Amino acid sequence: MNQKIKTIAECLDELFPDAHCELNYQNDFELLCAVLLSAQTTDERVNLVTKELFKIYPTAKELAKADVKEVEKIIHSIGLYHNKAQNLIKMARSLDAKYDGKVPKDKEALTSLSGVGTKTANVVLSEYYDLPYFGVDTHVSRIAKRLNMAKDDDSVLKIETKLMRLFPKSRYKKTHHQMIFMGRYLCKAKKPECDKCPQGIKKYCRFSACDKDA
Ligand code: SF4
Repeated sequence: MNQKIKTIAECLDELFPDAHCELNYQNDFELLCAVLLSAQTTDERVNLVTKELFKIYPTAKELAKADVKEVEKIIHSIGLYHNKAQNLIKMARSLDAKYDGKVPKDKEALTSLSGVGTKTANVVLSEYYDLPYFGVDTHVSRIAKRLNMAKDDDSVLKIETKLMRLFPKSRYKKTHHQMIFMGRYLCKAKKPECDKCPQGIKKYCRFSACDKDA
């Protein structure tokens, strides 16, 4: 790690030593469903609907046989619920038919499932299987840009590649969660709390509204 990344990593360790996945899950199937549902909504909302969803459909086999209207009823309080209900059922059918209900430990296989994009696959592979992947969501992307680790017009894929080059593999999972915590609780999209941001991070920040002396 270069000096800048070392300093940022140290600050993140101090700020968020216990950063972790805030989605509730008991197994690989539940984690995949939860991450798939988490697009454009909060983990809190996902946890509310998955509590009910996993009670009725605890395995891929059961979800594969679900009626889309029934699933929609359960998840209707989260964004894009219509598409998500369809994707959940299609994804469960593939899991059941091709992988015996288990979530594949392979990125290509994962991204071939309905509703599973690169971010979802990376999060599951890192969170559940401890494999060196870096999930880039809206928070990670914003922090990477504000801290000049990526350019404003970089694609998600480019940001992922840059972060994987900057941080050692052993830190991918932890840094991913710490950047999400930072985006949720400190460096918020509209009103970042720059007065609470440590100097070690602030000195690298290029967010125009940030007052470096605050
Ligand atoms: S100084 Fe403000 S905008 Fe910059 S990283 Fe810290 S909280 Fe975010």
